Amino acid sequence: MQRERVGFIGLGRMGKPMAMNLLKAGFELIVWNRTRSKMEELLSMGAAAAHSPKDLAEHSDVVITIVSDTPDVMEVILGDNGVIHGVREGMVVIDMSTISPCAAQQIAAALSERGVQFLDAPVTGGEKGAIEATLNIMVGGDEKTLERCMPIFKALGKKVVHMGGNGMGQVAKLANQIICAINILAVCEGLMFAKKLGLDMNKLLDAISDGAASSWMLSNLAPKMLERDFEPGFSIRLQLKDIRLALEMAQKMMIPLPVTALVGQLMRAVEALGFGDKGTQATILALERLSGVEVNW
Ligand code: NAP
Repeated sequence: MQRERVGFIGLGRMGKPMAMNLLKAGFELIVWNRTRSKMEELLSMGAAAAHSPKDLAEHSDVVITIVSDTPDVMEVILGDNGVIHGVREGMVVIDMSTISPCAAQQIAAALSERGVQFLDAPVTGGEKGAIEATLNIMVGGDEKTLERCMPIFKALGKKVVHMGGNGMGQVAKLANQIICAINILAVCEGLMFAKKLGLDMNKLLDAISDGAASSWMLSNLAPKMLERDFEPGFSIRLQLKDIRLALEMAQKMMIPLPVTALVGQLMRAVEALGFGDKGTQATILALERLSGVEVNW
């Protein structure tokens, strides 16, 4: 069977290495990014350039989007000059951004009127997972369409799980984000408490990193907090977006998420201090302001 021609929209921190992995896997690729200069590296590797999301869709069989937030996905897919104006019956559109589950369902409904299948397929694994093609991909939508797109997903990630109908991929991703956000705060409080009481932080991490407190956040973010390395893998700004999406959905469904709301307020304080573009490990800066202790080695 001839390989799908893939159109890729959004060459940010995640999208650029993902698009590169599709090229490396041998897919014919056409790309579009709002800031055109960010397309250059992909073009030098053999990708073609589209003039607009509509133009990109006209030259693709499968379109992938990974942009920032719900209105941005709406704009590139449903807006003027959006993907929807260039699609043909039988095509597939896959959104891999983290957005509102309800918006994913709205996009699916609009595309289905044109005979186009939609998959919401958000990811975990961060920039590292995008570069190394080891993302975990949570998919909502038609299972046969997922099977058709499996070669594409396999070029991007190591685990692909069908979560249910449209929107359920996003629900899974938001559950992941709730767990991650709360876990970051747990690491911050533990480190701050230990530092204030004078513990040797090397010994602390050695003692607890593979015990019951072990976690991805403790292993990966605690050393960064202690080194005062606040460069983003995943930014406070994007984590705040995901907390907002989770709280909006929870409010709609009358689900209490008290600790998620609290973490959101602390991260909002970090943003107000001017660190919104720093990584989520910068949450420690809010705890430091409250406790008056600097958390370092
Ligand atoms: P990013 O580096 O900030 O890149 C955002 C991309 O979206 C850029 O290409 C940007 O274009 C484009 N964009 C934003 N608004 C747009 C609009 N209105 N129209 C057209 N293009 C628009 O973000 P990222 O880290 O790659 O994250 C992308 C998505 O993946 C987000 O939904 C995020 O939550 C999710 N995600 C991120 C991570 C992570 O670790 N970073 C992990 C998992 C999931 P310009 O270049 O023109 O600005």
